[in-house]
Amino acid sequence: MLPLAQPDLSALEERYVLNVLRSGRLAMGPYTERFEAAMAALAGTRHAVAVNSGTAALHLIVRALGLGPGDEVVTTPYSFVASANVLLYEGVTPRFVDIERPGYGIDVAQIEGVLSERTRGVLAVDVFGQPADWPALTALAEQRGLVLIDDACEAPGASVGGRTIGSWGHAAGFGFYPNKQLTTGEGGCITTDDEALAAACRSMRNQGRADDARMEHVRLGFNYRLDELSAAVGLAQVERAGDLLAARARVASLYKDALSGQPLLRTPVTVRGTRSWFVYVVELAAPFDDNAQAATARDALLIRLQNEGIGCAPYFPTIHLQPYYRERFGFVPGAFPVAEAVAARTLALPFTTRMMEGDVAKVAEALGRHLPAVCTTATAVA
Ligand SMILES: *Cc1c(COP(=O)(O)O)cnc(C)c1O
Repeated sequence: MLPLAQPDLSALEERYVLNVLRSGRLAMGPYTERFEAAMAALAGTRHAVAVNSGTAALHLIVRALGLGPGDEVVTTPYSFVASANVLLYEGVTPRFVDIERPGYGIDVAQIEGVLSERTRGVLAVDVFGQPADWPALTALAEQRGLVLIDDACEAPGASVGGRTIGSWGHAAGFGFYPNKQLTTGEGGCITTDDEALAAACRSMRNQGRADDARMEHVRLGFNYRLDELSAAVGLAQVERAGDLLAARARVASLYKDALSGQPLLRTPVTVRGTRSWFVYVVELAAPFDDNAQAATARDALLIRLQNEGIGCAPYFPTIHLQPYYRERFGFVPGAFPVAEAVAARTLALPFTTRMMEGDVAKVAEALGRHLPAVCTTATAVA
């Protein structure tokens, strides 16, 4: 059995968690502070604010920037649903822009076309750990007076244009769910150089308190606090980040070699900067007539691989075609052709720090055996 994802936990995480249990201090303690300092160092920012999910991190950034009803923020439909949902929480209208191939990031050249007098910002995503085009986004934001938010949930340790992911834009949100490169169980973090923004996020994660020690609530807040046990796991993970990220890069390069002779697949291409490997997503490259045909082949392949104990999943379905978004905004297929074509053809393969050459060879062998059949069947049926 090869899992799609698996956290890499060591004696260090155990030791830190045990320290927390023995200390009796389970929330807002020294491990949260140390975790924040370690995340600020990793991101290259002055401030890091730990919260209990990546979604909470992005939500607080949207609120702290004062975005609300009547405002529009440009974002990408090819992402995890949370990156658009955090705008809806605050009544902000997402303005989707299609993605570019082969990086799958927001197509910066298309942003100008959707700007209106209501556009306040851009929320870009470092999809699968590939940095978005932050130098170009920054130039555009400065020229147009827009705020920039980085959904960096999939890209801890990545960099582009000589700067680390987490330090671009007004603020970045990281997520530490167990399938991410670094995990806390559930958890997230905001990184920023903006002291006022960091202070607002700190206050809002703790019920809008002016001061964590007192029951004076100066703004509407939430309980988005990260607990100490999770922070202890997170601190160990960030301290081990170099090794964890290198192990993922090693497995990615094994895959690249093993799949290089497979004409029915496109393997990931790093189009700029240094990628932080989140998942290993491949794209079916057969000459399908349309997206439905491609998705049929991709889904058949998923089932065949899963039946052999090879964990895999379709990454990502587009956000605008999710039932909730279709119903609320009236999106129909065809709105974002590149994102839809990619979403119909992509699948994530097993990807963990512990995979060995033999594991990767097993996946490549299974792909080689099943790909011709699923692609031929799909094209023959049409
Ligand atoms: C993981 C992830 C998030 C946040 O996820 P949580 O489960 O809330 O921690 C947000 N955006 C993207 C692109 C993600 O991959």
